[in-house]
Amino acid sequence: MGPPGSGKGTQAVRIASRYAVPHISTGDALRAAVKAGTLIGREVKAIMDAGGLVGDSVITALVRERLAEPAAANGCILDGFPRTAAQAATLDTMIDRARLVVLHLAAADEEIVRRLSTRRVCDACAITQSVSHGADPERGACPYCGGNLVRRPDDHPDTVRRRLQTYAEVAAPLLAFYADRPAFATFDGLQALDRVTADLCAHIDRWAQPSGA
Ligand code: AMP
Repeated sequence: MGPPGSGKGTQAVRIASRYAVPHISTGDALRAAVKAGTLIGREVKAIMDAGGLVGDSVITALVRERLAEPAAANGCILDGFPRTAAQAATLDTMIDRARLVVLHLAAADEEIVRRLSTRRVCDACAITQSVSHGADPERGACPYCGGNLVRRPDDHPDTVRRRLQTYAEVAAPLLAFYADRPAFATFDGLQALDRVTADLCAHIDRWAQPSGA
């Protein structure tokens, strides 16, 4: 967990690959639903574009489904979930709470606004990357596949500020929910990417229980 732009998604992909477990990102799943125009996608689009939070019941149903898949039997990386204390309480009913390792990435608001103003996503290969300051948010070619580099609608600076406000409102009770668990730890999301990954993995190696333990 951590504010938008703290590096959660990037680190989650790295860690999932390192431990060979699925990466379950609620934000990615919702964006895919919006893109595909499903019923849920049509319901959540306006909320996401405005930087608000999608209802707990929609999110927990989505996560419950993914956790039940055989691929997640040996563990998974949850990215962007839980985001509220209510979601955290529901997660405790879905899995053995003693097996949960909670990683919190912290980052200052000004640095986040700066980072997200240069974040782009390729509309073909979906790789997230950073462009130079002042780059046109609607133009640019993906260096990997030549697709269009676009700014996520919710990365518009006004929406980022709204997302940070939303995060600030729900983060305190969520952090309090996990604060006294030994497998909970906070990391500085603004360190170099490899340093953050190394710190997160050291914590996981210390606390994650192998399946069947
Ligand atoms: P993310 O990619 O994690 O920043 O999520 C993008 C957007 O999806 C958020 O701004 C929310 O609108 C929505 N979202 C993702 N995960 C959740 C969640 N656990 N609870 C509520 N809304 C969520």
